[in-house]
This record gives sequence, C-alpha cells and structure tokens, in this order.
Amino acid sequence: SCDCQRFLRNNWLLLSTVCAVVLGIGVGVLVREYGKLSNLDKFYFAFPGEILMRMLKLIILPLIISSMITGVAALDSSVSGKIGLRAVVYYFCTTVIAVILGIVLVVTIKPGVTQKADEIDRTGSTPEVTTVDAMLDLIRLNDKDSCKLNILFLFSNSLLGFNLQNKTKEYKIVGMYSDGINVLGLIVFCLVFGIVIGKMREKGQVLVDFFNALNDATMKIVQIIMWYMPVGILFLIAGKIIEVEDWEIFRKLGLYMATVLSGLAIHSVVVLPLIYLITVRKNPFRFAIGMAQALLTALMISSSSATLPITFRCAEEKNRVDKRITRFVLPVGATINMDGTALYEAVAAVFIAQLNDLELDVGKIITISVTATAASIGAAGVPQAGLVTMVIVLSAVGLPAEDVTLIIAVDWLLDRFRTMVNVLGDAFGAGIVEKLSKRELEQMDVSSEVNIVNPF
Ligand code: ASP
Repeated sequence: SCDCQRFLRNNWLLLSTVCAVVLGIGVGVLVREYGKLSNLDKFYFAFPGEILMRMLKLIILPLIISSMITGVAALDSSVSGKIGLRAVVYYFCTTVIAVILGIVLVVTIKPGVTQKADEIDRTGSTPEVTTVDAMLDLIRLNDKDSCKLNILFLFSNSLLGFNLQNKTKEYKIVGMYSDGINVLGLIVFCLVFGIVIGKMREKGQVLVDFFNALNDATMKIVQIIMWYMPVGILFLIAGKIIEVEDWEIFRKLGLYMATVLSGLAIHSVVVLPLIYLITVRKNPFRFAIGMAQALLTALMISSSSATLPITFRCAEEKNRVDKRITRFVLPVGATINMDGTALYEAVAAVFIAQLNDLELDVGKIITISVTATAASIGAAGVPQAGLVTMVIVLSAVGLPAEDVTLIIAVDWLLDRFRTMVNVLGDAFGAGIVEKLSKRELEQMDVSSEVNIVNPF
C-alpha cells in the first residue's frame, strides 16, 4: 500500500487528467443529447477550457525567452553550435522518415481510390489562403488567422501596449497571445541575445542571472497552471463534443483517417523508440511514459507551442534530461520539428490526389515529400496550422488548393494526434541530443568546477 500511495502521489496530476478526459467525454455526450444549448451557452460551457488555453499561451512567451537565452548563454558557443547541429540533424532525419512512412502507407492503402471527391460533402468553409500566403507563413509563422506579427510588433504590442501594425484589428495583450506568436522570430532573437550576453562575461552576468530568475519564476507559474489543468481539460473536451456538427463524415473519411492514424502510431511506437533505443540504449517506452502528461495535453489542446511548458516539466522532472539541453532543443523543436504534421501532410496530399484521379509519378511523389517536409517546418505549433500549410503541398503538384475542404471536417481530430506525435518527437530529440552531447556536457561541468575554485 506504501508503493501504491507513492504512485498516487507522484502521478496524481496525470491520473486526474485522465479522469478529466473520461469525465469530459461523458459530460459532452450527455449535454449534447439532452442539453439543447444555444450557441452562446456552448461558448460559456467551453469557457473554463478556453481559460486553460489562454494561460498556457500566456506563459510560453516568458518561458521561451528565458529558457533559450539562459540555455545559450550557459554554453560555450562552440558547444552550443555542436548541440544545435545535432538537434537539427535529428529533426530533419525523423521528419523525412515520417514523410516516407506516410507516403508508403497511403500508396498501399489507397484510401482515396475507392471514393470520388463528390461523394464527400465539401463541408467546412474554404479557408482564404493562397499559395503565396502559405509560403510566406514559412517565415512568418503565425496561426491560421494570420495575425502578422513580427518580433518588433510583438514587443511593441506586449511590452508597450502599442498597436503599430494593424489599425483595423485590435490586439490586446491576451488577444495577441491567442492569435499566435512569431515563435521562430523570437527564437532567433533569443539565440543571438544569449550568445552575446554569454560572451560579455562578468558584464553580462547580471542579465544571465535575470533570465535565470525569470525562468525559475515562469516554471513556478507553470506549476500553478497545472493545478487547473484537469478542470480546463474536462471542459475543453466536453465543449468540443458538443460543438461537432457532423459525425457522419467520420465514417466517409474512415479509411483516410485510419491511414493517418496508423502512420502516426507506427512512427511513435516503432520508429522513434527504435532511434532512441539505438542511440541512448535505454528503455524508450519508460521515457515515453515519463512524457505522458505532455502527450495527453497535446492530444487535448492540439498545440505543441502551448504544450511546451508541460513538455519542459516532464522532460526535466520525470525523465531528468539535462536542463542545458532541454532549454535549447525543446523550444526549437516545438516550432520546427513536426513529424506528425509532416506525415499527415504527405498522406493528405496523396489522398486528395487519389480523389481527383491524379496519376502520381515518382517526380510528383518526391515533390510531395519535399514540400510536406517544408510545410511541417513552416507550420506554427498552433491548432490546425498544418491544414493551412497543406496549400503549399497541393499547389506544388497542381491540385486545387480548395480541396483542403475535403478533409477539413475531420482535421480537428487528426490534429490532436499529430500534435501528440510532434511533442513526442521533440522529447525523444532532447533525450537523444543529451546522450550524443554527454562528453561536452561533462567537460563543461569540470571546467565550471575549476572556475569556482579559481575564478581568474
Ligand atoms: N497543431 C500542430 C502542432 O501544434 C500543428 C499542425 O497543425 O499540424 O504541433
């Protein structure tokens, strides 16, 4: 019973989150059957979930800034260069594997061949995105409402409260966060800033200390948010169940969904664990279980950026990954490393081609693979960003961009699962890069001990 108590104490949050999911589904189904809620009621009903989303989005700005800057400043620039390179190689290889896996599955299962495009109702409304828009999103990296904030506006908006850019649409502080942050811009800035203050030595130390303290404070706030998490998640999932209008479409698109889901399953249960096993030589499933809270969060909120605070906590507290690695690998990973999205984009593009009777030769398959990789890098870590960057993939092989409407109705569900795989990929990445960088990290430990004894 002592073991049991310890288990409960260590995992109460995870357990209550799981309960919240189950309860949320139950409540959602009941209210949907008997509730007869108006649209406004639905909005109120889902509001506790919305609050959770906003809290998480609010905290990622100070979290990314403080973790990246302290992470980079703490490392020697030659070491951070090496670690960065390893991370990028890992991101790239796993993304490419995910794309290939997706293509192989969709070409063999052929979910689109048995059906014609007109059998599937074009439900959702056409999103207003052009190819150019989607391409620009690669550098702009905003969410699908394309709130076009760059780093300067980000600061002017958040710190000064000015609104320099958009005169018609007002961005309030909370509104700005919920509309999406230019995370890549932020990361680049923090990289440069961290390197510079790292090189300033004693003069820069006050800034390093400042951002270290900011990082600690932010993680404390994350801890508070996590208390609220089960409540938020209950209402998030219940609210979603009430809101979905057409469940019939799930049957029609069943084979397509099965293809995406089995690809995601193979990638996360076989491919990634195998890579981890080969490089780190530890049990990958124990590592994945350590990440459970983050994975469940990703599944519930379909945003890898907003999950980032939880990813940090799981990686550092449960899996004991070195902070010098997570601070670096996780924020960048949440932004550019999206295995699930890449796999999904490849499957979806081939599926739409099959619906349109488009013959896919090797050249087109390669085009889809390359653009799906690019589109996953370009997608921001916000809900359904992958659906928007799909436009790049579709137009590259001459498919009509409007055809994303064919899959829009089920995207909210697939989005959850691919986000979960995105987060898992980042987490394994941190573990793998840590292992590969053991020597540098140990050397740093030794030299910092020497520094303490003799600062000159
Ligand atoms: N929602 C995904 C994420 O945050 C991106 C996507 O839409 O594929 O990782």
